Amino acid sequence: MKTLLDENQLNDGVEKLADAINAHYGDKPLTIICILTGSIVLGADLIRKLRMPTRVGVLQTSSYEGTERGDLTINAEMMLDIKDREVLLIDDIFDTGHTLDKVTALVADYGPTSLQSAVLLCKTGRQEVEYRPEFIAFDIPDEFVVGYGLDYNDEYRNLPYLACLEDSDLEPNA
Ligand code: 5GP
Ligand code: MG
Ligand code: MG
Repeated sequence: MKTLLDENQLNDGVEKLADAINAHYGDKPLTIICILTGSIVLGADLIRKLRMPTRVGVLQTSSYEGTERGDLTINAEMMLDIKDREVLLIDDIFDTGHTLDKVTALVADYGPTSLQSAVLLCKTGRQEVEYRPEFIAFDIPDEFVVGYGLDYNDEYRNLPYLACLEDSDLEPNA
């Protein structure tokens, strides 16, 4: 496994992301919706750097089997009431963009005052939708990455750094 972003780089990136979000919303109360499971580490680090009154909720999406994309499922059973609230979606990575594109459309139906999104990573040249997140910490090359919340078959989320998975790391027949 090859390290792409170490702990210091991640910390600096999250700090800048928080600065941009704080500058944009000012003192306005904000509702953060973390998209599980990949955004748990980013969410935990980011919310502690936000200065406005903040509510935190979650919803869950899943679309990957190993390193292959499958059908997207969205579980919004744990959504907060966000009617007439400023809402910021948090996700780990913007890849093809289908996840945030679909989640944004679904969450918009709950009637927020505003709806934006922030991601840790954006994979260069992979996007298949018009939608773009308003806040991006890092643009990265088109490689499958793990760590800092991102998984391969539910492993590696606990790594404190971000790494590229190499062929020798893949499970046989996965
Ligand atoms: P999208 O719908 O933008 O193609 O993909 C978004 C979701 O796919 C992300 O929230 C993430 O869970 C997963 N994903 C996309 N690229 C990667 C990657 O390089 N590594 C990991 N671990 N997950 C990824
Ligand atoms: Mg995800
Ligand atoms: Mg995953």
